[in-house]
Amino acid sequence: MALDSKVPKGPIKDKWTDYKNQINLVNPANKRNIDVIVVGTGLAGGSASATLAELGYNVKAFAYQDSPRRAHSIAAQGGINAAKNYQGDGDSTYRLFYDTVKGGDYRSRESNVYRLAEVSANIIDQCVAQGVPFARDYGGLLDNRSFGGVLVSRTFYAKGQTGQQLLLGAYSAMNRQIARGKIEMFNRHEMLDVVIVGGKARGIIARNLVTGEIERHSAHAVVIASGGYGNVYFLSTNAMGSNVTAGWKVHKKGAYFANPCYTQIHPTCIPRSGDYQSKLTLMSESLRNDGRIWVPKHMEDVLAIREGKKKPTELTEEQRDYYLERRYPAFGNLVPRDVASRAAKERSDAGYGVNATGEAVYLDFAASFERYGKEQAKIQNIQNPSEAKIKALGQEIVKAKYGNLFQMYEKIVDENPYETPMMIYPAVHYTMGGVWVDYNLMTTIPGCYAIGEANFSDHGANRLGASALMQGLADGYFVLPYTIGDYLADDIRTGTISTESPEFEAAEKEVTERIEFFINNEGTHSVDYYHKKLGKIMWDKCGMSRNAEGLETAIEEISALRKDFWQNVNVPGTSAEYNEQLAKAGRVADFLELGELFAKDALVREESAGGHFREEHQTEDGEAKRIKEFQFVSAWEYKGEPKDAVLHKEELAYENIEVKERSYK
Ligand SMILES: Cc1cc2nc3c(=O)[nH]c(=O)nc-3n(C[C@H](O)[C@H](O)[C@H](O)COP(=O)(O)OP(=O)(O)OC[C@H]3O[C@@H](n4cnc5c(N)ncnc54)[C@H](O)[C@@H]3O)c2cc1C
Repeated sequence: MALDSKVPKGPIKDKWTDYKNQINLVNPANKRNIDVIVVGTGLAGGSASATLAELGYNVKAFAYQDSPRRAHSIAAQGGINAAKNYQGDGDSTYRLFYDTVKGGDYRSRESNVYRLAEVSANIIDQCVAQGVPFARDYGGLLDNRSFGGVLVSRTFYAKGQTGQQLLLGAYSAMNRQIARGKIEMFNRHEMLDVVIVGGKARGIIARNLVTGEIERHSAHAVVIASGGYGNVYFLSTNAMGSNVTAGWKVHKKGAYFANPCYTQIHPTCIPRSGDYQSKLTLMSESLRNDGRIWVPKHMEDVLAIREGKKKPTELTEEQRDYYLERRYPAFGNLVPRDVASRAAKERSDAGYGVNATGEAVYLDFAASFERYGKEQAKIQNIQNPSEAKIKALGQEIVKAKYGNLFQMYEKIVDENPYETPMMIYPAVHYTMGGVWVDYNLMTTIPGCYAIGEANFSDHGANRLGASALMQGLADGYFVLPYTIGDYLADDIRTGTISTESPEFEAAEKEVTERIEFFINNEGTHSVDYYHKKLGKIMWDKCGMSRNAEGLETAIEEISALRKDFWQNVNVPGTSAEYNEQLAKAGRVADFLELGELFAKDALVREESAGGHFREEHQTEDGEAKRIKEFQFVSAWEYKGEPKDAVLHKEELAYENIEVKERSYK
């Protein structure tokens, strides 16, 4: 099948406007005759459901949680980008477009990203109108902060709860439509298959997670907004329930899956504490502004620290290896996320990890306490302050900036990070890959759409901070509501789609048989046993460092594990009750298939990109040599010359990156 991205012709800055002027529309009276299923009510699905219902479509929305308010989007802390240029610091639609494409290692679809940058400003207006309490400055205007990979301040935020506040906004908009009867909300329902009738997506099979009942639901179009699949690694910063099932089911019914192996691995997370852990916690990227990352220089100190015979604070400056500052003097501790993550893993793999598992490095604020403390002593006119006084003054400043994060760290690790350096380690955080979509956000199944983290299009090999919320809300509030009309315009006379068709029957039968299998299998191992094993293979062989041999082994191991799973998995309880293990069995079965595709994708990509480092690119002196290939079609079209490529080459030289240029039509 030839993929057709359906990107409109014309200069990149005019594409979206021209396109909207020309696509088919459905008139308001006809919208009342059209049903749309939205699977997922996080920021992407919640905003899409509310907007489609407001437009007049009949929406059926599904979520496996007990309320849309509990979608994983609630976890987002840092903020949401928008090219408002409120700071007057030179931001523009083009700059946001450029940063996002560059941040994604030039692997995103430029036309989609330009559109994303264009509508970013509308998102802020929409959310403010809903009452989202974005942070404001002293004068009452919306405030902004900076995130990695950019030169401007364009991140809007609501304390450390941006995702939660945005979700409450989308949820309020949804509730209004639920009250009007335009959205039928199916909480605690899990979509387990998509139904294709006459080549088009016409419905889903869902399981009522409370009663166990299998239900058929029909519609004229199906939208997948089911989030990311980072939990294929078992341990990640994602919510425990995040999974690939909805995306995987449409993939198995014919929708293409793109870039499955591109995962973002965030450098500042609380390290794993042992084998019985099921979740990892993110510490904000902002901490790297004031923390210095190090491991001991000498192995005897590493061992003494691990055995509890020495404290990190006892090591002198000479006994510490500030490896990021040593390797990347220009960027220091503020290297991009992917570089910081790989470097931490390299030091830990070399044996210098400082906790019991050997997978942790220090993030130390002592230098900031001193720097801020001395400054404060001057400001407060304190003569000859003692060391303790300086430290205390500095700690107050750090507390004002990051106090809640320090508190969170202390609660989880049970160590006071004001007195001893924090320990951090990279963790799986976001999946850039997903269901392939065209410019309309339609998958390769007609009538089946994918939005938010579930699709692949906007972040290439690496996502910049604060851009996922932007994409989810752009897709849901401003893009899909237009583009879906172009398709649905052909359905105004179709009438209600019947669920009494052979296609629905066959899909329901398949779902029921699988559930019965799990309940009746009486195997010996729990679902988590397999999930943990899969996660270990994924992390060890398909994580940040990859090589052909490891990936080939991973493919074999995952395949064997899957076979074992289908023979020996044990699911307690019955199918006619709330059975979390049963729900998880289906999700892990899909992860076991995705994992293999993931490894195959990584194997054929003979490149290092984003957070992934292909070990074959080791140079003779042992340094990493990364290879990046650039796609510049639209950027060239827009700028008229490949200037950006040259600029970027110079920037990348510090990391020994070989640039291969490639142009796609
Ligand atoms: C700790 C953390 C912090 C983050 N901070 C930021 C940040 O500051 N800024 C930023 O831009 N991004 C951030 N991100 C990323 C961002 O939060 C997510 O990418 C984004 O919220 C995903 O939104 P979504 O609507 O696509 O999916 P989700 O919010 O994951 O929603 C998925 C929905 O799909 C439903 N669902 C899934 N499968 C099924 C099924 N089979 N049947 C029925 N329903 C189903 C779920 O019930 C849920 O309603 C962060 C991520 C993490 C992990």
